[in-house]
Amino acid sequence: MPPPSTPNPPPTVRATPNPTGPHATGRTDHISAGLADLLIRASRQHGGRLADYIPELAHVDPDRFGIAMTSVLGRSYRAGDENTFTIQSISKPFVYAMVIDELGLEEVARNVGFEPSGEPFNAISLEPDTGRPDNAMINAGAIVISSMVPGINTDRQVRRMRAAMSAFAGRELELDEAVLSSEAATGDRNRALGYLALAAGRLDGSVADAMEVYFQQCSLKVSVEDLAVMGATLAHGGTNPVTGDRVVSELAARHTLSMMASCGMYDYSGEWMIRVGLPAKSGVGGGIVAILPGQFGIGVHSAPLDARGNSVRGVEALTELSDYFGMHLLGHPRSPLSPIVSTRDCDGVHTVAVRGELDFVSTEQLVHHLLDHCEQAEPATVRVDLSAVTRARPIAGRLLTATGDDLRRHGWEFQLLDSACLLTPDGDNATR
Ligand code: GLU
Repeated sequence: MPPPSTPNPPPTVRATPNPTGPHATGRTDHISAGLADLLIRASRQHGGRLADYIPELAHVDPDRFGIAMTSVLGRSYRAGDENTFTIQSISKPFVYAMVIDELGLEEVARNVGFEPSGEPFNAISLEPDTGRPDNAMINAGAIVISSMVPGINTDRQVRRMRAAMSAFAGRELELDEAVLSSEAATGDRNRALGYLALAAGRLDGSVADAMEVYFQQCSLKVSVEDLAVMGATLAHGGTNPVTGDRVVSELAARHTLSMMASCGMYDYSGEWMIRVGLPAKSGVGGGIVAILPGQFGIGVHSAPLDARGNSVRGVEALTELSDYFGMHLLGHPRSPLSPIVSTRDCDGVHTVAVRGELDFVSTEQLVHHLLDHCEQAEPATVRVDLSAVTRARPIAGRLLTATGDDLRRHGWEFQLLDSACLLTPDGDNATR
């Protein structure tokens, strides 16, 4: 990133547990207290400088430091300062998710690639043969994605972009007009990236139109709670866990998390994955969103940046948080729980009651139970009761159907009690 300027003085941390968290109901909120503790520890990091290549970004208070976390069940926890800041590059994954949702991955892939560039966010990273920007998390790729936001004119595109961003946050996000003018006044490098993409045939419409959408998406004001809810929406397969609204498809959310995992933290993305292990995106406003798929979205903000453009205290806080809450995505070795809650033999019927989520490993256990039972008994009826199953992956349907066919061939009557149709024949049951 361009050389940042203002040195960062030591902060005063105001670590306040979340007044809207569980302790508002009289419970002790140990989760917000844990966040407050790690904020105090991370605030000992005094390095970093404010980004000032967008002049308005140099006017923020470098001491402010806050963190929030929202679960996929919609509960939020918070510590530190409450304030808003511009979302900057953290807008990129959310606009990407919306455009993939609208146009599909293949259409998007015609114009933007998937590989980490290993270069700064504003680098000229275009694939030599295709002219595609390397990925959508760097400026060149994000500008192309902004040009692809659906809409018959720029005004509609901007409205569509803002509606999607607000749906991710679960509230109407406002523009920071001062930052917007500052970006527009100093954004020639971004315009140049737009022209290169246009010359390579990768930009939809004019550079000016793409920049209008791009500058506006970067200038939206968010709080750490907004980032936590936005992250939780991706963690929750595209459905905002607070409003209950589906914002993007589960597949679009998955594609976006995959991009964030490899390219979200500028040229620190590889080391970040080792140390923190969460798909994330940071912005030069000092915010970072991090996501533990299926569990939590986290937002953190502290404006002073390191040499790669990531918030110094934000990185520190999330490194500690991943460790403290045991969140590393790849650090979840588990002894699989059995999905079988009970078995019953009555009038020649062996009934197996199953509960929870039928993923690959739980279905594997169920199948082995059925095969073991049927090898040891004379053919009769075997019944699998799925009424307490909350969700079934497509692989569950495939394995159970194939196992049922085998058992029938060996003289068994095989019954699946699936009144919620979790095991649909087309296998399209992953979102239930
Ligand atoms: N609006 C900023 C730019 O285009 C975003 C950069 C960032 O946050 O990485 O330069």
